Amino acid sequence: MQKEKLYGKTLNELIAVTKRIGLPGFAAKQISDWLYKKEIQSTDEMTNLSKSARELLNVDYELGLSAPVSSSESSDGTKKYLYKVLKDKYIETAYIPDDDRATICVSSQSGCKMGCIFCMTGKQGFQGNLSSNEILNQFRSMPEFANLTNMVFMGMGEPLDNTAEVLKSLEILTSEWGYGWSPTRITVSTVGFISGIKEFLEKSRCHLAVSLHSPFDEERRKLMPVQRTNTIEDVLNIIRNFDFNSQRRVSFEYILFKGLNDTPLHVKELARILNGIKCRINIIRFHPIPGSQFQSPNLGITINFKEALNSKGILTTIRSSRGLDIQAACGLLSTLEQNKNIS
Ligand code: SF4
Repeated sequence: MQKEKLYGKTLNELIAVTKRIGLPGFAAKQISDWLYKKEIQSTDEMTNLSKSARELLNVDYELGLSAPVSSSESSDGTKKYLYKVLKDKYIETAYIPDDDRATICVSSQSGCKMGCIFCMTGKQGFQGNLSSNEILNQFRSMPEFANLTNMVFMGMGEPLDNTAEVLKSLEILTSEWGYGWSPTRITVSTVGFISGIKEFLEKSRCHLAVSLHSPFDEERRKLMPVQRTNTIEDVLNIIRNFDFNSQRRVSFEYILFKGLNDTPLHVKELARILNGIKCRINIIRFHPIPGSQFQSPNLGITINFKEALNSKGILTTIRSSRGLDIQAACGLLSTLEQNKNIS
């Protein structure tokens, strides 16, 4: 029988484990310290638990860490790791070093249901939600774990379509009994899942990034089918009415497609719909994917678009493309081939 994984459990879940196997309540905190504050590789290293307590634990539980199965490295230093999840599926995770920052871009699902037409993950369809164990294992089992300073949920999948496991991961990352990270080191990116956004804003203090890509309903529907049921107008109303503290940031991701969403009309409409929201826009260059009719605008158009938004009072930046040569850049993650090879 498959043992349950301890790594990825919250303190309350560990309390339930200790109760279930008859260990004293304080053992749960001892276990969480071993899981999240020390770099152990097996439950046998939990040396402040008695030998009999460890034996009891080992009957039904295991640590639950698994190393990436392969990796590739870009000429710009970005790395991409392949992890096995959900018994026989794969996901990708990116490591992005940048001066004194080192960001991990984690996946929250294998594949994705959202079907954004510019995204390779969307093209591979949906294989399943990751557990908090599988989300955090990308972080803990990454060889660069000790260097990591920031985390973005911008890998494969829509994080707020897997809200419960993502929130559990955030709780472990930011709790004093867990990794104790400041929530300001973590950004969760969403296409704009209404129910998930509400829950995320209420239950976490991490930064929010919303994929916008067009301020116009019809155009956004074509790019992102989610717009049919979760309109950007409704998403913006939630954000507008939420009381953000000064530390918490809202940003909008805007992939720029040549001749499609890079016109003065788009600038004007973006300024109108974002009016009253303290935010910034991150412009992302479109990274062409097979079979797509879209093209990237040149640098001049991209800079002009940025400056036009800045002149409307919207803080706008251009995100540098990292890991393009190993398909680790935004929109390029895919494990379609690896999943095919084992099915
Ligand atoms: S862009 Fe994000 S939400 Fe859209 S299909 Fe790709 S992974 Fe899914």
